[in-house]
Amino acid sequence: MAGRSRPPRAPPPAERTRALAVLDLLGRALPEARIALDFRDDVQLLVSVILSAQCTDVRVNQATPALFRRFPDAAAFARARPEALWPLIRSCGLYRNKARNIVAALQAVAAEHGGRVPRTREALEALPGVGRKSAGVVLIQLGEGQHFPVDTHVGRVSRRLGFARELDPSRVERRLMALLPPERWNQGHQLLVWHGRRTCTARAPACGRCPVEELCPRRGVRRDATAPTRAAAPSSPTRRARRPSRP
Ligand code: SF4
Repeated sequence: MAGRSRPPRAPPPAERTRALAVLDLLGRALPEARIALDFRDDVQLLVSVILSAQCTDVRVNQATPALFRRFPDAAAFARARPEALWPLIRSCGLYRNKARNIVAALQAVAAEHGGRVPRTREALEALPGVGRKSAGVVLIQLGEGQHFPVDTHVGRVSRRLGFARELDPSRVERRLMALLPPERWNQGHQLLVWHGRRTCTARAPACGRCPVEELCPRRGVRRDATAPTRAAAPSSPTRRARRPSRP
């Protein structure tokens, strides 16, 4: 079919085992890993996710209390003029686009879904400002199945860990879904996001204090680019021997 690429080859069992071991270790290291956006209902969740595009969750959480006081439900957002949102969300960046998308999305939610955020990927992705990744994040929080949304952190960490080579988030997502059993997708998404924020950061991954260092080939990571850490001891020969080889 046009535009649809072949599914990735089934990963070797050893790779699946390694991926599961990575998630187990990250799960132990990050038991608190959960969505960092603050929301009280499905409408607030949807709005926060739209606002989080190219913005930190911290910044979104700073903006949303006043926004949700002014617009308490889908109907209030649907009645609003986008300009009324500007001063409240300016700090989140791209505020004109985001305001337009939020109002249009909530108009659709109010008119077509009875004021309730839809529970299917197809309906969510039909809303303005909601792409594949955002729909996956919303579905996870609504408890609607298992998904593996790929944001910048999930993509970067997956490539460094050797789970995927691709830059395209949809391809990375399919690699991860092939690598891990469905019951680990939601958790896997959250853990890779947190690990990317806390340790495997874009500029200077802290490999010396990384809980999965022994299982990581560190693809694309220059040794002189890693963050210095007091906890980091030089790699022992044993540790070096256990680390998967670089491509
Ligand atoms: S060892 Fe380094 S590159 Fe690999 S996951 Fe940990 S922080 Fe990231």
